[in-house]
This record gives sequence, C-alpha cells and structure tokens, in this order.
Amino acid sequence: MTTYLVGAGPGDAGLMTARSLELIARAEVILYDQLIPDGALDGARADALLIDVGKKGGGRQVPQAATNDLLLEHARAGREVVRLKGGDPFVFGRGGEEAQLLRAEGLDFEVVPGVTAGVAASAYAGIPVTQRGLSAAVAFVTGHEDPAKPDTMIDWPALAAFPGTLVFYMGVRSLDRIASQLVAGGRPASEPVAVIQRGTFPDQRTVAGTLDDIAALAAAAGVRAPAITVVGAVAGLREELAWFAAGPLAGRSVAVTRARAQASPLAARLRALGAHVVEAPAIRIEPLDAELPDLAGFDLLCVTSPNGARRLLELVRDARALTGPAIAAIGPGTADALRAGGIEADIVPPRAVAESLVETLAERPVRRALIARAETARDVLPDALRERGAEVEILAVYRTVAEPLDAAAHAAAHAADYVTFTSASAVRYFLEAAGTPRAETRLVSIGPITSTALREYGLEPHVEADQHTPDGLLAALVADAS
Ligand code: SAH
Repeated sequence: MTTYLVGAGPGDAGLMTARSLELIARAEVILYDQLIPDGALDGARADALLIDVGKKGGGRQVPQAATNDLLLEHARAGREVVRLKGGDPFVFGRGGEEAQLLRAEGLDFEVVPGVTAGVAASAYAGIPVTQRGLSAAVAFVTGHEDPAKPDTMIDWPALAAFPGTLVFYMGVRSLDRIASQLVAGGRPASEPVAVIQRGTFPDQRTVAGTLDDIAALAAAAGVRAPAITVVGAVAGLREELAWFAAGPLAGRSVAVTRARAQASPLAARLRALGAHVVEAPAIRIEPLDAELPDLAGFDLLCVTSPNGARRLLELVRDARALTGPAIAAIGPGTADALRAGGIEADIVPPRAVAESLVETLAERPVRRALIARAETARDVLPDALRERGAEVEILAVYRTVAEPLDAAAHAAAHAADYVTFTSASAVRYFLEAAGTPRAETRLVSIGPITSTALREYGLEPHVEADQHTPDGLLAALVADAS
C-alpha cells in the first residue's frame, strides 16, 4: 500500500490536479491541513476517515509529532492514506520530513505536486514571478524566522543581493523587519512589494506598496495569514495585469442559522461568493416515525419542505405506494428532493409558500388530501383545502428542535455582518439561544413567513428575498452588499 503526499489548491479547488482528485476519491484515510480549497474533500468516500491536522495561518494546531504518529499508524495498518496539504507538499509543507519518516520505516509513498501559494497567489494577483527584462530568477523564502535573531538560517545580505523576485511565505507578522533587512542589504526602498492574502480563494485581497511603506500599509489594512509577500519589480506589474475579481461578498461575514445538515450547501455557496461564513445552527431536524396511510384513497399529496420530502421518501418502503394521488411540492427545493428519490412533482407553485400552492390549486377539485410536513407548521394549506370541502389528513414526518449554540458560534454570530434566516423556526430558536443581534448586523430573511417571525421578536428584517429559496436569499444578500 502506498501513502500519498498530495498538494491541493491552495485556495481555488479548480487548481487541484486530476491525480489529487483521483487519490482523494480513493483514500481510506485523509490527513488534511486547514489551508486547502473549500470543497477539496467533497469527493472523498463516505466511509473515509477524515482527520484535520491543520494549522491556521502559521501556528500549528496539531503538533507535527502527533501528525507523524497518525500518518505512520495508518500507513503501517496498510490503509490507503492521503496526506493532503495546501499548495505543494514539498514547499514549506513539511512534506519532505514526512517522506523521510515513511522512507525510514520502509513504507512506500508517492508525491503529488500542487501549485504552491507563491506561484498561485501571485498569478491570481496579476503578478508573474518572472518576466523577461524584469526578473530572471525567483526565490521562495520563509518569513517565519525572525530576521533580528542572530541564529537566523537566512543569510539576509545574500538575499538582499539576490538577482530576482523574492516570495516570502509565513511572513505577515515580520513584514517590517523583512523590509528593513532588505533595504539594509541594498535593495531600494522604492522597490515594489505586494502582499496577497488568501490567494486564489474567493476573498483574496492584495495590498501593494514599496519596501518603505508595505509594513504600515498591510497593518492598516489588517492583513493576516495566510499571505505571501512578493518583493521585486514584477510586483509592479499588478496594476496592469490584475484580473481576478474578488467575490461580491468578499470581506463580509455571514452567519447561517439553519440546521447543520442543510447549512453546508448554503455555506459553500456563500464562501464561493467570498463571504466568511459562520455556521451557527440553531435548529436540528428530528425525523418522526409515521405510518404512511394507503394513498389509494387520496387524490392529492402535498409535500411542504425539502426536509418533509426527504423524510417521506425514507418512510416509503415501496415506491408503488406513491402512485395514485397527484403530488404537489412547495418550493423548487422540495421538488428537487422528491426528484432525488425518483418522484416528479405534478404541481410546483410559482412562489415557495403555502399561500401560493393554495392559489395554484384553486381550480383543481380536491376530495381527499394528505399533507406531509413538520409536526408544528402553519395551517394555511389544510384550512384552505378544508374550506373547499376536502377531507385533509396531516402526516407529521419530522420536527424541528433546538440545537445548542457553542460559545464560539455564539460570539461569531454576534460579530457577523449578516445573519441569514431560512425559516421561522430558525428565527425563533436562534434568537432564543443567541439573543438579539447587534444593531449593525443586517438580518436577511428568506421570505414573508420568516420575516413575520422576526417581527414577533421586534426585529425588522433588512433584506427579504423575492424568491423564497436559498438562491433567492443569496441574490438578495449580494444585492444588499453591493
Ligand atoms: N505548502 C504550501 C505552503 C505551506 S506554509 C504551499 O506550497 O503553498 C503556509 C504558508 O503558505 C502561509 O503562511 C502563507 O504564507 C502561504 N499560503 C498558503 N496558502 C496561501 C494562500 N491561499 N494565499 C497566500 N498565501 C498562502
């Protein structure tokens, strides 16, 4: 069995190689770092063991010794192991040390190169690291070391004299000392410098200056790790060659209050737009055991939410049970969830609210209807159908319960620029758990029912989606942010 030292990203999943994707899809165990692209693990096997040994920015969270132990343990057990690192595994990734360890133990390994941040972030910032006539060489340098220390591994005078571009990794905090050492070594104070934070991620940003002022500019802009610093004439090409547009939500933090299981797709799409996402799930969906009645006697089956659709499909043991009644789904998400189970809804009202289904059904005679929905829900639909003379049965297939918010999620949600609500129950449980958001926080509601729930707490939504779907909510949020 082989262990794979695999590079990814560093930020844009599109920069992953075919080989890295193939190995991630095959792996039994994946030991991954923090700085990998969002969604890099999406293709992993459902039964794969995913272990976060990541470091945030520069500081280690899991000590290297513990990572080494895990790596050896799984490799020795003969498992297919992927050690996934941001960028290239052999560039400041300690991949070399891990390979030595495997070799010493007689364990086979393969190295899958990735695009290192020094090249990828520069390219995404419009900076070619070499350029005919400007720079014929490029050096990757760790900025982790304190240049003021006497025992530094870096020969600063030699580095200052290097005839080409210098790319510093891990050096945001030592920026002022790096710059002054280079100037002391003879580089002109006017030499262009660019600091690129979270390069190739949708929230990438670049601060440009010179050796003279870059430290002050980066500090004023609040630049944090992960970032690389490019020093050299090529950094000045950025003005001409910048091409990467940051996402419309870059620099904004957005809290997602919906249940964890459903939060991920919404969170992923927010991240793709550049947002910093805070997952603050206030609710959890609890499936209920329910006996599906014989549907032969019904002429309409209404499914009111994606959760309801998924649970209903679990409760149906024989697909033939659903032949007979016409099937109505409130909202495209509900229709999609049914479709995933091989059922095409006959009726999907134009708006994703019960009122819209009531209107759509106006001309349709209904004798006996079954409504599959949450235990507690509004009675707009059953009331309207009953009023028209239909016999209505309700099948509660799930319930929404409170999910305790941990302290970190609580604090982050309170600091967020936006808090998003995708249901009335998310509003109630979030506000009960987290209290009233700060006045500066903008509250985003998926639709009128959710907005009403906010108003019951004395809060006016700042943004309400026109289309009462996650897509509609994203569109409204982007419009508000721009
Ligand atoms: N093996 C990685 C480097 C790991 S060291 C690679 O080849 O890219 C971690 C440092 O890499 C960070 O401190 C930062 O300097 C740099 N880095 C990683 N991802 C980055 C990104 N998306 N944008 C800018 N710098 C990044």
